[in-house]
Amino acid sequence: MTSLRDLPSVEQLLQTPPVADLVTRYGRPLTLDALRLSLNETRAAVRGGSTSLPSRDELTSRADALLAEWTRPSLQPVINATGVILHTNLGRAPLSRAALDALTSAALGYSNLEFDLATGKRGSRTVHAEALLQKLTGAESALVVNNNAGAVLLVLSALAKGKRVVISRSQLVEIGGSFRVPDVMKQSGAKLAEVGATNKVHLRDYREALSDGAAMVLRAHRSNFKIVGFTEEPELDKIASLAHEFEVPFVDDLGSGALLDTAKYGLAHEPTVGESLAAGADIVCFSGDKLFGGPQAGIIVGRADLLAKIKKHPLARAVRADKLCLAALNATLLHYLRDEATREIPVWKMISMTARTAKVRAEAWRESLGQGEVIPSESTVGGGSLPDESMSTFVLSLTVKNPDKFLKRLRESNPPIIARTENDKILLDPRTVLEEQDVVLLENLSRMTRTLAPGASAGVGE
Ligand SMILES: *Cc1c(COP(=O)(O)O)cnc(C)c1O
Repeated sequence: MTSLRDLPSVEQLLQTPPVADLVTRYGRPLTLDALRLSLNETRAAVRGGSTSLPSRDELTSRADALLAEWTRPSLQPVINATGVILHTNLGRAPLSRAALDALTSAALGYSNLEFDLATGKRGSRTVHAEALLQKLTGAESALVVNNNAGAVLLVLSALAKGKRVVISRSQLVEIGGSFRVPDVMKQSGAKLAEVGATNKVHLRDYREALSDGAAMVLRAHRSNFKIVGFTEEPELDKIASLAHEFEVPFVDDLGSGALLDTAKYGLAHEPTVGESLAAGADIVCFSGDKLFGGPQAGIIVGRADLLAKIKKHPLARAVRADKLCLAALNATLLHYLRDEATREIPVWKMISMTARTAKVRAEAWRESLGQGEVIPSESTVGGGSLPDESMSTFVLSLTVKNPDKFLKRLRESNPPIIARTENDKILLDPRTVLEEQDVVLLENLSRMTRTLAPGASAGVGE
């Protein structure tokens, strides 16, 4: 007869060396929690009819497993083999090594975040990105905030609260992650003055709306979708001139905000920050972690008088960028300044990777695994940039019995591997796998595909 009285107490378990080791690693309170849970599970099992008691070792390993689970970081690195470069769910842009180093040194100690080293007096955190942004975009002034949603909200609040903002109907978009242009406008207190039809907007529509009075003309980049067919939209410089005729600022929410020309890499041309400003935009705002390739941030550049107002608005304090963001942003900006973006900024490295390079890597993977097939495929930019656009790539294609199960096993590997399926094949795209992840990717894959005869691609694993 199984008796619960034969179970050791927590106190007895604590006397054993393996549990003492757990206390050292995880601390006493958490270890006690784990031991109690482990014992309670056993009691429940016995009451439920279990006829054997676990040994002390078994109780201890159960506690160890619980402790490992409880203390595992929730946010963990994954290998992105999807070929989607700016994968919003996978954290958008990976940072460059230099950005990481800058972030680390800012994080580990004190910094001159708001301290003017020349005068020994209080300084401003805005200076750390402003000069570089001026130099790179030609803008008079700049401000960095927490993210681009915050940037748009701040700009609207500071410049158009309680007033009408003219915007084309075709731009009242939802970007994902619940950023909706009309909702943000409402939140800022600005009044929506939508013009045109969904597919066509004429300059005269803008003129009419401006004649009724407005504080701003806003252009929101459609980012994640395209309007094709019977469409029309005035050129940016025409809208800007019209806004200026009515003496109101023209604000361009670029979303992705490329500093380099995507057309150079076989993609559609994504409007650049410089082009927007040159077309006459008074304020341009964009994300730090989309095509810019830096940390999460909202970057506002433009006219000095408008930025002075924006910086003074109380919301500016609520959405300000933190020192880690500013450190990483500064390092990312330096890559552009040194004209080394495509070599150092991961997002641009991936965009500029040729299909040939992808093929060489996919073939090396195949060679190392002795499995699968290298086939042509498409990578995408993602992150609400360049919808419908793709880049030629080569992927490693694995034939497996149950693709969904295999994807799940990939996600359960350490680090998790995120892949995609197409026609029941598992596709792994080298474009978005960082080179330093190749070794661990192949180790994990080979463990999962080992059961197969070399060269046989049918029936890998599951
Ligand atoms: C992505 C995007 C935003 C939101 O930017 P976050 O940095 O994600 O806050 C705003 N506007 C447009 C047009 C976008 O594409």
